Amino acid sequence: MAEAERMYISYNNIHKLCQKVAKHILARNERPDIIIAITGGGMIPARIIRSFLKVKGQKNIPIQAIGLSLYEDLGLKNSVETIGKEVIRTQWLDFGALNQHFDSLIGKKILIVDEVDDTRTTLHYAVSELEKEVVEQQNLLNRTNEDTVFSIFVLHNKDKPKKAELPDSMINSGRYIAAQTVSDMWLCYPWDAEDIEEHTELAKAQGND
Ligand code: 5GP
Repeated sequence: MAEAERMYISYNNIHKLCQKVAKHILARNERPDIIIAITGGGMIPARIIRSFLKVKGQKNIPIQAIGLSLYEDLGLKNSVETIGKEVIRTQWLDFGALNQHFDSLIGKKILIVDEVDDTRTTLHYAVSELEKEVVEQQNLLNRTNEDTVFSIFVLHNKDKPKKAELPDSMINSGRYIAAQTVSDMWLCYPWDAEDIEEHTELAKAQGND
């Protein structure tokens, strides 16, 4: 792949993108009650945005991690070729910690964070499974009249045809937030860099510092 088809992103750039999006979320009065980071790419943005979503006198927003991997990224062969990409859960919500320190997800504002929306397969899976989880809890606890609001924050959305969709209600109400929309190229994040100095220089040269 030619260098021009790669976009390098520095830690500073990520920090600033998180800060910008946090301001936007607070201005909309949509400070989340909980952040759900999709591991591993969502973890660093989730941690950074939490700092910028801090409000004096309010507790830090708890972060839970869920692990999702695409089948092919795990090196597994898909037995039925027509299925296409499948998502594997490698980690899920820690209900013990949630119940003890937080309450349930019912009626909460939930911000799902990942680094990049590529084919949208992962985000679609995360939203639909988390929505199911909430409905199950609502039925169990007889709390079906409370609204749970999901939002998404990604650093980058690739402008390309997607393989899965997100709820219209989320897109139409501005609850899908991509700090930047970029063309379809490979994004190089700093946490994968072998030489962080060189990586940062390449990011700067592309204006991503
Ligand atoms: P999806 O296709 O489900 O939207 O994205 C799946 C995952 O592929 C992302 O969470 C991310 O880990 C990885 N991915 C997709 N495109 C890129 C990219 O350009 N750079 C990096 N580093 N990871 C990517």
